[in-house]
Amino acid sequence: MSHADYSRSDFDQNPLMFYYEVTMACDLVCKHCRASAQEQPHPEQLTKGQSKMLIDQVATFPRRPMMVMTGGDPLKRPDLFELIRYAVDQQLQVALTPSATPLATLEAFQQARDAGVRRLGISLDGADPLTHDAFRGWEGSFERTMGMLQNARKLNMGVQVNTTITRRNVHQVDAMAELLAAEGIAMWSVFFLVPVGRGVEEERIKPQEYEEVFQRLWHHAQTKPYSVKTTEAPHYRRFVLQRGGDPLAGPQGKDDSAARRGHRAPLGVGDGKGIMFVSHTGEIFPAGFLPLLCGRFPQDSVVDIYQNHPSFRALRDPDGLKGRCGICEYRHVCGGSRARAYALTGDPLQTEPDCVYVPGQDHLIDRVERPW
Ligand code: SF4
Repeated sequence: MSHADYSRSDFDQNPLMFYYEVTMACDLVCKHCRASAQEQPHPEQLTKGQSKMLIDQVATFPRRPMMVMTGGDPLKRPDLFELIRYAVDQQLQVALTPSATPLATLEAFQQARDAGVRRLGISLDGADPLTHDAFRGWEGSFERTMGMLQNARKLNMGVQVNTTITRRNVHQVDAMAELLAAEGIAMWSVFFLVPVGRGVEEERIKPQEYEEVFQRLWHHAQTKPYSVKTTEAPHYRRFVLQRGGDPLAGPQGKDDSAARRGHRAPLGVGDGKGIMFVSHTGEIFPAGFLPLLCGRFPQDSVVDIYQNHPSFRALRDPDGLKGRCGICEYRHVCGGSRARAYALTGDPLQTEPDCVYVPGQDHLIDRVERPW
């Protein structure tokens, strides 16, 4: 499946990544958890039958998206492997984001691979046990995470490492990049905090610091054996384009078609624009970090909501953005984090609160005032 040739009209019809939060149950209580996960599944969690109906529906998008089964901890769902197999039978590519708990064993990964999982998403939030464990809220998490990476490697499974950047670990960007270089991963996805769920308790870095982190990421994107992308920081694309780079280039800055095949999202992907999220109880959102309720499955069709709901349509229209993003020459490839704008201003179309770019002037604001 190639996503490199998705046009704007393709995105009007089909998400590239469909996130299904199969459960909110998780044995961990991570400090920045979007889902504010709980130990037990919610009583109204979608049943196995409803989950299969959802998969059937997702398979009717004109171009089938990749389905990311997330949580909570997806391994807490007893019917997980059956659902994966079912999705694969409907010709969906499936990725899985297991939590670092005792459930994430080599055997579980093997079962996931045998059921058809194409890629694992594994979280790493520090370059050493002290930083990572403090972030995750329990001792031993770093060691377990490194074990998960090793098990994935043993099974030859593609891995995307997900890192949340906050004030706690921003000084470790280079150290994490080096650590990952030895792990044989395909992609490093660097997420910039959006204050939702338990994430409100964590501290975001300053807008000016984004540019410094982008600089480090761009350096590593060109020199490390994995691809680098940002999540909820599309202004990284602006940063790379300003330096004459290609935000889609693969490891070592080369345009590798493997990286374009499912390992990364093309230009312009954002909340509701190539991305869709369905919660464990069937709530339909433009993204996991943008809790703008647009419908409920199974009462509503996810295909109809994605294609026609006014919020999804507005999120896909860069010319409808407000403030600096609305007049920015990079709005079609960037557009800012709609989730962060919503979390901090209540309006998902407002200016990205954490971008320092001055549209049309090719320079940066010295200081962004934060009234929030
Ligand atoms: S002003 Fe908005 S669209 Fe322009 S680079 Fe910043 S976040 Fe992106």
